[in-house]
Amino acid sequence: MSAIIEQTIETYGIENWGADYFGVNRKGHLIVRAAEGDNLTADVKEIIDDLRKRGINTPVLLRFPQLLFGQIRKLQKSFRNSIKEFDYNGGHMCVYPMKVNQNRSVVEEYLREGKRYNFGLEAGSKAELYAALALEQAEDSLLVLNGFKDRDFIKLAFAGAKAGKNVVIVIEKLSELDHTLQLAEETVADNTKAKLPMIGVRVKLYSKGSGKWEKSGGEAAKFGLTTTEILEVIRRLTEAGRIDMLKLLHFHIGSQLTDIKRIKNAMKEAARTYAKIRQMQIPIEFLDVGGGMAVDYDGSRTSYESSANYNAQEFANDVIYVIKTVCDDEDVPHPTIIQESGRYLTAYHAILVTNVQDEIETVVEDLTPLALDEHDPQVVKELHDLRKNITAKNYREYYHDALEHREELFTMFNLGLISLEDRGKGEVLFWDVCEKADGFAQQKKYVAEEFDELRRLLCAKYLANFSVFRSMPDNWALEQLFPIIPIHKLNKKPTEYATLCDITCDSDGIVDKFVDLHDVKQVLELHNLEKDEPYYLAMMLVGAYQEVMGNNHNLFGVPHEAHIYIGEDGYIIKKVIQGATLSDALATVRFDSGQLHDQFRRNIMQKIKDGEVSTKEGNELIEYYESQAESYTYLSLNGSE
Ligand SMILES: *Cc1c(COP(=O)(O)O)cnc(C)c1O
Repeated sequence: MSAIIEQTIETYGIENWGADYFGVNRKGHLIVRAAEGDNLTADVKEIIDDLRKRGINTPVLLRFPQLLFGQIRKLQKSFRNSIKEFDYNGGHMCVYPMKVNQNRSVVEEYLREGKRYNFGLEAGSKAELYAALALEQAEDSLLVLNGFKDRDFIKLAFAGAKAGKNVVIVIEKLSELDHTLQLAEETVADNTKAKLPMIGVRVKLYSKGSGKWEKSGGEAAKFGLTTTEILEVIRRLTEAGRIDMLKLLHFHIGSQLTDIKRIKNAMKEAARTYAKIRQMQIPIEFLDVGGGMAVDYDGSRTSYESSANYNAQEFANDVIYVIKTVCDDEDVPHPTIIQESGRYLTAYHAILVTNVQDEIETVVEDLTPLALDEHDPQVVKELHDLRKNITAKNYREYYHDALEHREELFTMFNLGLISLEDRGKGEVLFWDVCEKADGFAQQKKYVAEEFDELRRLLCAKYLANFSVFRSMPDNWALEQLFPIIPIHKLNKKPTEYATLCDITCDSDGIVDKFVDLHDVKQVLELHNLEKDEPYYLAMMLVGAYQEVMGNNHNLFGVPHEAHIYIGEDGYIIKKVIQGATLSDALATVRFDSGQLHDQFRRNIMQKIKDGEVSTKEGNELIEYYESQAESYTYLSLNGSE
């Protein structure tokens, strides 16, 4: 492999965060592997070119179900290994928390692979449950219900049990128990042989997780029963003669748990709680350890928010070892471990590819003749001097002088002392001094912080054809980092530093933090934009939460979507789903395009009547307006339709 390609792989950190699913081929294109380290690959640039020929332009979300399978297998294998290594007597099963990505294809593909290991589903709302009840699950897999539930929700759960699912109603509040017991009596009164749901309880642990979702755990957490509440559940169930329904103990201390030590502490506490309940002769079978397995988005393998200081095998080892040790100590059977990992399974499989539409000019370019003029005000003359005489020795001092002169320039302008031309000239000179100072600063081994700031000011701003709010909402809301990488030109050295602006009119619609092994990058190395040649970027690891939490800001709807399988003969585009049209986007805010067309037509008719528009023009206008209803909400590539 060429030295430049090796260098770009390092620049973008592919080998750090890519989990062996991604690489670069000899053409300098980003590739996706069918499985970790596999020889079967797909060339992402070729896929995008191919889709473009079919009229599917960027932004487009590429879904690679094989990466979802890969993650499922990795998780399953890790637990299988640990169970063997530690002589653990219980099993391991997952239930996929639908809220992480409820898209039908994601859930169905998950079940397709997951049924081989009895992996089931977790639903946190009535809508998710409603969908889950119709989906085909492995016979022995569970359907776990978390979240707050009213009687209707619980009634639907009973219907699910009758329909054959192994439903577990996790009690989050005591009122849920009352509804459950009542419905159990009603159900049995109708049919003594009816299959009933199982009951679980969510415990509020004293132990907390680490990372952004830390407050999901600990005493002040929103969910879970305290020790006395759990004892109350047991008492009421026993009294009602239904204690045999209690089968599962659940906890979940948050998402993206970055620190393995905290996870171990929570496991210890939960395992001890399980053991104590088990000793009360209550045959709980399942210990549900929740979700939270983190994705190493920045590849640093640390407890930093966008990372994780453990891998799947280390996670499994700790879970199995801790639970086994506690159970043996308390002399109770090993429970079957249920895991609700969502992020870890789905993050890798989706990639959003979009084009850089343009560059936004921020630094004032040299537009005016800059020869020094004897009529120039003193402040402009001084900036001129700075520009002329700045050197590697004085650049720091000169840069600070320039900052002062710029202040002075604005003050004088506001007082009406200098003209618009003077101000323009002063600004151009100021930015020239900055660029020179930056040039000198970057040659030094140690770049002072003030020049890092300057670099950020001077860097290019690339206008990327997507909405952060729609496609990477956690970057906006939580400063969660996602790897971003060009899908081509990776055999060429990136020569620009840039931040990204999205196409919403919101000043928050920017990406100015990028993954880095040791820190967070403020600017991303990218290539120069060439005229008439699209430049494509991939936002990686966006398969968890981003799609379903993305919003409609500025009415940028869901992007096009393509499902890709990687086989012996390269890739196959299995399915293309059209992204949102204007009429789709408007429908989300209850505008009906038919009605809009009527109103527009009425306006035009009036103009025709008033003689302001000819009949021909009017008809053309109407036709044109109506044709827009089916167009894509995003920008078209320059020069294309
Ligand atoms: C959100 C959630 C999960 C999923 O967490 P991940 O971090 O995506 O693995 C699991 N269980 C419960 C109860 C949740 O609320």
